[in-house]
Amino acid sequence: MHALPPLPYAYDALEPYVDEPTMRLHHLKHHQAYIDKLNATLEKYPELAEKSTGELLRNLDSVPEAIRTAVRNHGGGHWNHSFFWKILTPASPNQGLALAGGQGSTLGDKGRTLIENFFGSVEEFQKQFKDAALGRFGSGWVWLVKKSNDQITIISTANQDVPFNEGGEPLLGLDVWEHAYYLKYQNRRADYVDAFFKIINWEQVGQLLTAKD
Ligand code: MN
Repeated sequence: MHALPPLPYAYDALEPYVDEPTMRLHHLKHHQAYIDKLNATLEKYPELAEKSTGELLRNLDSVPEAIRTAVRNHGGGHWNHSFFWKILTPASPNQGLALAGGQGSTLGDKGRTLIENFFGSVEEFQKQFKDAALGRFGSGWVWLVKKSNDQITIISTANQDVPFNEGGEPLLGLDVWEHAYYLKYQNRRADYVDAFFKIINWEQVGQLLTAKD
């Protein structure tokens, strides 16, 4: 049985960028619903129920066709949200320095260099990431992924499709489903993306970057 992972911070910890009611609804209702539906889907498949979502999603072709779409959607929802909570962190005075490097930087020299090499500058990376977030029609996610050693790029996935099946291992991800921001930002997705840049856990991004070398 899959279970809801606890948030690594309090529900109000991301205020004012992501509000407490949104976090409660998103984590306790939306994420939980993906887990409940995944568990229900796997109920008659005990050998699959023991596998992690990552294992199931990386081998979707070996999942019986009758439940493949359900595993892709609900398993993907569970995987993506579990990743997302860990990529967020309460805003801190060092946040602005995280990408720029120097004292208080949490991304590390390698991450900063990579972003500058591939996007030209931190500002250009943020612009392209934001453009991808605004360009995702309907529901989905935007990701910074690592394609292979020292190759990074921005991709977008529809619905709850996982990034590692569509371009690379995720370093950073943003949920652009309306349920992620509508209570506070209504239709202003651009403001939500700007707020996201204030609460990125760059230390986690840096760890993912080096862990997969
Ligand atoms: Mn979501």
